[in-house]
Amino acid sequence: MTLQRLRLTGFRNLQDGTLEFPEEGVAVVGPNAQGKSNLLEAIYYLEIFRSFRGTREDRIVRFGAEHFRVEGRLVGDGEGGEGEAAGDAAPRTLTVAAAFVKAGRVKKVTLDGREPPRIADAIGRVGAVLFTPEDVRLVSDGPQERRRFLDILLSINVPGYLDALQRYRQALAQRNAALREGRGGASVGAWDPLLVEAGARVGWIRARWIRDGAPTFRSVYAQVSGEEEASLEYVPSVPVGGEATEDEVASTFHRILSEGADAERRRGTTLSGPHRDELRMVLHPGTGQERDLREYGSGGQRRTAALALRLLEAETISGRRRRAPLLLLDDIFAELDETRSERVMELMERTAVGQVILTAPKESELRFRSDRLPHWTVREGVVA
Ligand code: ATP
Ligand code: MG
Repeated sequence: MTLQRLRLTGFRNLQDGTLEFPEEGVAVVGPNAQGKSNLLEAIYYLEIFRSFRGTREDRIVRFGAEHFRVEGRLVGDGEGGEGEAAGDAAPRTLTVAAAFVKAGRVKKVTLDGREPPRIADAIGRVGAVLFTPEDVRLVSDGPQERRRFLDILLSINVPGYLDALQRYRQALAQRNAALREGRGGASVGAWDPLLVEAGARVGWIRARWIRDGAPTFRSVYAQVSGEEEASLEYVPSVPVGGEATEDEVASTFHRILSEGADAERRRGTTLSGPHRDELRMVLHPGTGQERDLREYGSGGQRRTAALALRLLEAETISGRRRRAPLLLLDDIFAELDETRSERVMELMERTAVGQVILTAPKESELRFRSDRLPHWTVREGVVA
């Protein structure tokens, strides 16, 4: 989909109004603290209905205002739609809107004016990938950060994932409450069928995605870094190979839960399952000199790995939905050395042939496609 129009009200420091986006995208230039990231945050809000920075909604509402609203009009390229009649010649359009009211903390999402049964049913309509300098945290922070990456990416791209994840979290919370309160084995075990079924689905989908994406990660990393290699590996809490079926994951999970029952009672929490998975990135794989990137990687190596994850995400979107992702690039080239940025740009040209919205504090730092994109400026929230 191409973002054609964005309508904003009360969103952070951005001026209320409507922006019309060119089909090829736009390069947005503005000094620090003017609203560049806020603009990308507003666009990506329509993808996941949350802040990519993890900000609570009441803090997104402009200081002194009572609510915010973001509305995006998307135009399809005739391919890869969900539920649309094949061969339909007219370009598909979709209006995605999200609003939040501080009083009562009410969030409402609509697709073409209609509220879906659950907000989760509306995510992933934009098909965007966002690159930011903070992505380096995907590599340097704890496993939770990487699980969050997987969960967002798979929720958006794999039907059934988010549903399984939500059921899993619910079962896990109930089961943990039973364990914490020292309730008997029966009230803990009552949650096991749901935990195992939903957890196996989550784990199986993660395992397959990582198995399929690992070669891309490796080649992207190698291309950006020059010659150095790094691999992407799934370290599931329920140890199964990438080829395991969902049933095999389920039976292994079930077995581990039974074996760990005593330890879980002592510790008062569920000790195995997808909430304990790790996504590991390893330098020099297969050489006998393997090093965990998180612990041993330099700043540049971590940044390269984070970029490789995002490029893999972009490829997942284009592969699964047969359309180029909307690329949102928040001031990412300033952080990379000359050669690495050149190589990243080459890869982006190949992976992402669609619309690009990029930001930088200076014209000279725009770099990517900057000669082919119209330039806008942003000053104190006014985009022009
Ligand atoms: P940088 O180049 O430093 O990354 P930026 O242009 O990306 O800058 P933004 O993150 O978009 O800057 O923030 C712009 C301004 O928005 C900041 O001054 C910030 O304080 C302000 N801001 C953040 N939240 C709100 C809010 N809820 N209401 C009003 N202003 C806000
Ligand atoms: Mg910013």
